[in-house]
Amino acid sequence: MVSFGAGEPDFDTPGHIKEAAIAAIRAGKTKYTPVAGIQVLKEAICRKFEVDQGLKYKLEQIVVSAGAKHSLYNTMQVLVQAGDEVILPAPFWVSYLEQIKLAGARARIVETREENGFKLTPAELAEAINPRTRLLILNSPANPTGAVYTQEELEALGELILKHDLMVISDEIYEKIIYDGLRHVSIASLSPELKERTVVINGVSKAYAMTGWRIGYAAASYPVAKAIADLQSHTTSNPTSIAQEASVAALNGDQKQVELMVAEFARRREYMLKRLLDIPGVSCVRPGGAFYLFPNVKSYFGRAYKGRVINNASDLASIILEEVQVAVVPGIAFGNDNYFRLSYACSVDKIKEGLDRIAGLMAQIK
Ligand code: PLP
Repeated sequence: MVSFGAGEPDFDTPGHIKEAAIAAIRAGKTKYTPVAGIQVLKEAICRKFEVDQGLKYKLEQIVVSAGAKHSLYNTMQVLVQAGDEVILPAPFWVSYLEQIKLAGARARIVETREENGFKLTPAELAEAINPRTRLLILNSPANPTGAVYTQEELEALGELILKHDLMVISDEIYEKIIYDGLRHVSIASLSPELKERTVVINGVSKAYAMTGWRIGYAAASYPVAKAIADLQSHTTSNPTSIAQEASVAALNGDQKQVELMVAEFARRREYMLKRLLDIPGVSCVRPGGAFYLFPNVKSYFGRAYKGRVINNASDLASIILEEVQVAVVPGIAFGNDNYFRLSYACSVDKIKEGLDRIAGLMAQIK
């Protein structure tokens, strides 16, 4: 079995981060903390925002939660309710849609185009806005497409956001996993007005290979941050004290291992992309970030493998799984069943083995 399903780095959490957690346990930092996070961690997060994005936040504008998913959930709960619409560009990460529904709001899904690198255009955004629209979800670098928005693209979307007085959730969890010299830009950094309307979501899960530690954070205007903290106060309370201490070490410590991890991801991306593009009839956008490829396999629809007709990417993914034991995630999970997602958070040997099998199988589709 070869799995290209992983949504997390295959690297270990760096040693100095683990040591910080162990030291925290020994020092008895095992009690309740302030609901929105310990001060040293909020300071580290504020410093990160200022150094990386030129964004200045006060400590009260930061809320630390149990992973970026929790930060997103809390944010959705406080920003929207029944009767509101949320613009969700597709393909999208699976949990946004469910979180919109959990908040009682309605998702307005907007299909982006492969030709545009799966990035929402101002025309597509304008078309989707109506009097009920309250919120836009942006995710750059994106899961599952790897799309990275440029400053100019964000500025153009920003004009419409201000014109229609929308709020934005900007999920920047893959910020550090970016290639080809691209620069991550946060829409919140473009103007004070956009900063006021944006909740930036980030966390330590992907950059520091800390998915199991469960630390994410939101940065927002004062009233929104207060509402998020209030909600958290009556639901989960603070995220784990020990994981918070470890996250301070992650953010303030040596960043060399992040660079090494990204360099290795870049190497794998190159290889996997080449192997996919070598398969006849497959197209694939070159992703600027994250650790996924999202190939278009539409040209195989209406054809058959050993008598089994393929109507969509889910059919093809099932055949690949059953026949050659390689797991890919059908695009339907992300809102588009013409594609599937492959994660390259696994070794080059595994990528080679898995792609040999997929290419061999696809060559037999008649
Ligand atoms: N946002 C995106 C786009 C993701 O892909 C993920 C995890 O897969 C998350 C948020 C959640 O991150 P965390 O593990 O910190 O909750």
